Amino acid sequence: MAAMAPTQPGGRDRFELEIVRLAAGADERPIFVAVFGLDRFERLRAVTGREAVVDVVDRLAARLGEYQPAWKIARIADDVLAAAFHAANEAAAVQWTHEARLGLQGEYSVGGHPIDVRLRAGLSAAGPPNALLREADIALDGARDARVHFNLFDASSHAKAVGALSLMPELRSALQRNQLSLVHQPKRDLKTGAVRGVESLVRWTHPTHGPIAPDVFVRLAEETADIYALTRWVMDRAIAEQEALMAAGHRLQFAVNLSGRLVGDAAFIDWVIDRGPAQRGALRLEITETAMIEHPADAIANVAQLRTAGIPCSIDDFGSGLASLGYLKRIDADELKLDKGVIDELSRSRRDRLITRSIVDLAHSLGMSVVAEGVESAESAALAAASGCDLAQGYFTGYPMPLAELINILTGEAEQASARAVATG
Ligand code: C2E
Ligand code: CA
Ligand code: CA
Repeated sequence: MAAMAPTQPGGRDRFELEIVRLAAGADERPIFVAVFGLDRFERLRAVTGREAVVDVVDRLAARLGEYQPAWKIARIADDVLAAAFHAANEAAAVQWTHEARLGLQGEYSVGGHPIDVRLRAGLSAAGPPNALLREADIALDGARDARVHFNLFDASSHAKAVGALSLMPELRSALQRNQLSLVHQPKRDLKTGAVRGVESLVRWTHPTHGPIAPDVFVRLAEETADIYALTRWVMDRAIAEQEALMAAGHRLQFAVNLSGRLVGDAAFIDWVIDRGPAQRGALRLEITETAMIEHPADAIANVAQLRTAGIPCSIDDFGSGLASLGYLKRIDADELKLDKGVIDELSRSRRDRLITRSIVDLAHSLGMSVVAEGVESAESAALAAASGCDLAQGYFTGYPMPLAELINILTGEAEQASARAVATG
C-alpha cells in the first residue's frame, strides 16, 4: 500500500493553534482576532486568476507584519487575511483594526495590472481563544452583508444569525415551565469580608443546546419584548428565594438587573413598585450606565420614583461606557458598581489608581457606596480596598451559586463567627 501523506493542517487550523499559543503567553491583555477580506474577490479572480489574488493577499500579510511585528498574521483563505494580537481593550483593538485596514488598502500590481485593493474587516470580541477566529469570520460576513467596512462581532447579532430568534418561543415556554433558574453572587465588605448582599443572575439550560449565556438571551429578549416576562419572572423568583433564605436564618438584600428598555418604561416601574412591601429595601435594582445614557430623562425620573418607594438602585458597569462623572450627580442611585475593566486597570499604573480614587471619592461625597466588580484575586481586592471601594463582587468573593449553596456558605460563616466570638469573648 502506498504510504499516505500526512494530512496537512489547513491554514485556519494552524492559525487557531497560533491563537491558543498566543493566549498561553506572558502577555495578560485580552486577545483579539481581526480578519480582512478582499472586496470584490470574485470579480478580481475572474480577471486576474486565483494565483494572482492569493499572491496579493500574501503581500498584504507581509506588509501588515512589517507594520505590526508583534501580531500573528496568516492568510486563512484565498481572499482572507487574519491577525491575532493583544490589546488593552476593545476600543484599542477596534482602532488598530481600522488603522491596519486603511494602511493595507491601496494600489497593488496584480498579474501586471494596477488594481485598487479594498478590504472589509471583522473583529472578534475578547473571549475564549478557540472561538475568536470563528467570531471574527462571522463579523466579516456581517460587514459584507451590510456593505460596511468594519464589523465587530457581537453575541446578539450572531445569535440572530444562527436563527436564535427561534429561541424566543422556547424562552417563553421555559418561563412557563420554570426551566430558568437564578444564581446569586455574594458582594462582600472589603474591610470585614462579610457578605452584604447578592446579585441574582438568571440562568437558562436549554434541553438540547445546553446552557445559553444570559448575555445572548437577555439581549434577544430585549429586542422581542420578552424582556418584560423575563424580568417579572426574575423578580418574583428573587423574592421567593430571598424568603427561603430568610427562613434559613439569613437576611440579605438581593439585586436584580433591570434592562435599559424597562428603565424608561413608567408602566413597568409602577408594576415593580406595586409588587408591594415584600421588596422594600429587600430588592435592589441594577441599571447599566448605558441604559441611563440612552433614556436620560426617563431614567432619572424613574430611579427617583423607585427610591421614593423604598427600592434602592445601583449604577451598573460604570466606566465601561461613556457616562460622565457629572451624570452621577443627576441620578438618585445609592450604589455605584465599577466595571471589571476599571478594576483591572488598578494594577496598571498610579495614574489609573488616582482616576479611580477620584471617582470613588465623588461617589462617596454623593452618598453612594462603591462596589468593585470582577474582583478575581486577593491582589485585586486589596487594590480595590486601597482605592476606597466599599464592597467587592467577583470570583474572589464567590462564584454565582444556587440558593442552597449560598445558604451553606452563609451558615458556615455564621458558625465560624460565633465560634470566634466565644473564643475571644
Ligand atoms: P452583569 O450585570 O455585569 O453581571 C455580572 C457578570 O459578571 C455575570 O455574568 C457574572 O457571572 C460575571 N462575573 C462575576 N464575577 C466575575 C469575575 O470575577 N470575573 C469575570 N470575568 N466575570 C465575573 P453573567 O451571569 O454571564 O451575566 C452577564 C450579563 O447578563 C450581566 O452582566 C447582566 O447584564 C446580564 N444579566 C444576567 N442576568 C440578568 C437578568 O436577570 N436580567 C437582566 N436584564 N440582565 C441579566
Ligand atoms: Ca449587574
Ligand atoms: Ca456589572
